Amino acid sequence: MASTSPQRKPAVKQATCTYCAQVVEVARRAMSIFCPHCKKRLILEDYKIRSYYAVREFFTCGDIVVERRGHVVAPIKVGNLTVKGKVHGHVTARGRVSICKAGWFKGELEAPTLCVEGGAVVDGFLRIGVTPQDAGSESAKAGARRS
Ligand SMILES: [Zn+2]
Repeated sequence: MASTSPQRKPAVKQATCTYCAQVVEVARRAMSIFCPHCKKRLILEDYKIRSYYAVREFFTCGDIVVERRGHVVAPIKVGNLTVKGKVHGHVTARGRVSICKAGWFKGELEAPTLCVEGGAVVDGFLRIGVTPQDAGSESAKAGARRS
């Protein structure tokens, strides 16, 4: 019989794969891993952006904060996103997106939760609170036919 050890600090945390959406257990201090499901490299770090930052893709399982002087131009996949500066791109978040009062967003935004403060600029296509499952069942319903 294995004895249950009392209150061991978990050395792992859970991350959701940016590419295949599978939940992966990772070492708490790991900066990146290879997804065991799709074999792609996942970034686990949190970012704070304080300047102009334009990249081909900006993907992380962690969180991104765009500070007041930050200006990100990139497709973004992220856990939680906080925008105090500017973001231009297609954003897919697994958690919460907050656009603060001096924030500026242009592009496409998909997230379970969006919080926009008064004064923020949001210019784009939003898809909030729509899970892929919802979208799937909707199209399944639309596709279903009585015969
Ligand atoms: Zn994966």
